[in-house]
Amino acid sequence: MNENKPVLLIDQDDVLAEYIKGVTAAFNRKYNTCFKATECDNWNLHILFGEDIETVMHEPELFRHLEPAPHAREVFERLYFSNLFEMYIVTAANPRAVEAKHEWIKEHLPFFPLNRVIVCSCKYMIKGDYLLDDGMHNIEEFNKTGGMPIVFERPHNLKTDHGFKKVSDWLAFERFIMEQCYPDKIGMYLGSSEEQVI
Ligand SMILES: [Mg+2]
Repeated sequence: MNENKPVLLIDQDDVLAEYIKGVTAAFNRKYNTCFKATECDNWNLHILFGEDIETVMHEPELFRHLEPAPHAREVFERLYFSNLFEMYIVTAANPRAVEAKHEWIKEHLPFFPLNRVIVCSCKYMIKGDYLLDDGMHNIEEFNKTGGMPIVFERPHNLKTDHGFKKVSDWLAFERFIMEQCYPDKIGMYLGSSEEQVI
């Protein structure tokens, strides 16, 4: 039910979950290499890792065991239970990995209904007011729909010269989205949170 609350579309990989960190560690284990996640400064992982990355990057077990991004769980939970937003997770996924990505959400965001998880690579087709995402193709396409894209900063999108709003982490996103949507309710929102972070 939409009571005219702002609709937030939240990406999973490298926004909620540390995908690049996980894929780098898995590649290093498998091929005895020593790449660093911070070296992944291009969306195309083949450029850094070579073609062998294909043997790692789609594996369901990888997605199942990714670390949550710093503050992702607490901020997502605060925003969800604030009842001020309508929230969806929108994720592109290899069909083999969908169940593992659902399992990850059930473990780390157990309160979040799975029927609010939308698996779709064409995120511009999903109606929403804001999209938080690290993929610049998603950001640019969503911008054309009239919604506001917000770039979640990652090494691969830092070099991109763009005019979009960007946030460095979940706490910055929380602060921005409250100031953007509910500047008059920030005090109440803070009061509902034991961890007063913004
Ligand atoms: Mg992503």
